[in-house]
Amino acid sequence: MGPDKALLYIVATPIGNLADMVPRAAEVLQSADLVAAEDTRHSQRLFSHFNIETPLVAYHDHSDDQRTERLLAELEAGKTVALISDAGTPLISDPGYRLVRLARERGFRVVPIPGPCAFVAALSAAGLPSDRFTFEGFLPAKPLAREKALQNLASEVRTMVFYEAPHRVADTLDAMAAAFGPEREAVIAREISKAFETIHLLPLAQLADWVRADSNQQRGEIVLLVRGAEPQKSSELDAEARRVMELLLAELPPKRAAAIAAEITGVNKKALYNWSLERK
Ligand code: SAM
Repeated sequence: MGPDKALLYIVATPIGNLADMVPRAAEVLQSADLVAAEDTRHSQRLFSHFNIETPLVAYHDHSDDQRTERLLAELEAGKTVALISDAGTPLISDPGYRLVRLARERGFRVVPIPGPCAFVAALSAAGLPSDRFTFEGFLPAKPLAREKALQNLASEVRTMVFYEAPHRVADTLDAMAAAFGPEREAVIAREISKAFETIHLLPLAQLADWVRADSNQQRGEIVLLVRGAEPQKSSELDAEARRVMELLLAELPPKRAAAIAAEITGVNKKALYNWSLERK
């Protein structure tokens, strides 16, 4: 495919405050032949504010293949297409994956226009470790499935970031306190860049109480962040890992024993090796 092949731009838009619109985003939306949007009526307000007159067409991940194909046909015809979502960065808990995937597979250039994203903004101001984190998006809505998802994250050592609906936030914080322990630090980041922006850090059980006590905290758009679990110390190896290591160490040098025990138990090789040194 030649370099002059049409472009698909993936354009981030504000998550609340229109002043956060990136100049390049406005330029790209203005000059594109077509803008694909999650909700064209919603995006019309953004367009009016910035005097953008480019035609808008609806696109969401439930869009049938036909609609995706129609956008790809526009690219094929040499048109420049831009994708936006209702707010923030497309594809981040928002539609666009299928379109991007197919566009790339067919040799079109896909160009991101970076800008607002709720979880990045929340993480940047939360005061929780941000060197390593995991973005979990929305938890399942049903309590049992949510509990299970949280259980699976109980030993996650990275900061965890979630999107949550306001009417579920109090129950979700209770479920998090049950799964991660009441003392685990967490942050609610609400209405970022808007009039009632709130960023509040407390241990999970207290945060749940704080949110329940004030119905205002159960309104608007919400990111939840939870500090990761303390990494397991090698001296706290579980019984099975210790048993395997004891058996192997009777026959093998520590390094070899740790390597094989890691294969058997799935426990980190270094943790096993350190344990063998500490136990002497
Ligand atoms: N693509 C968007 C992004 O880049 O962040 C996210 C879209 S997702 C459908 C919407 C969720 O993002 C909301 O339910 C909320 O969890 C979070 N969110 C969006 N705007 C927010 C804001 N201003 N403050 C806090 N959370 C926000």
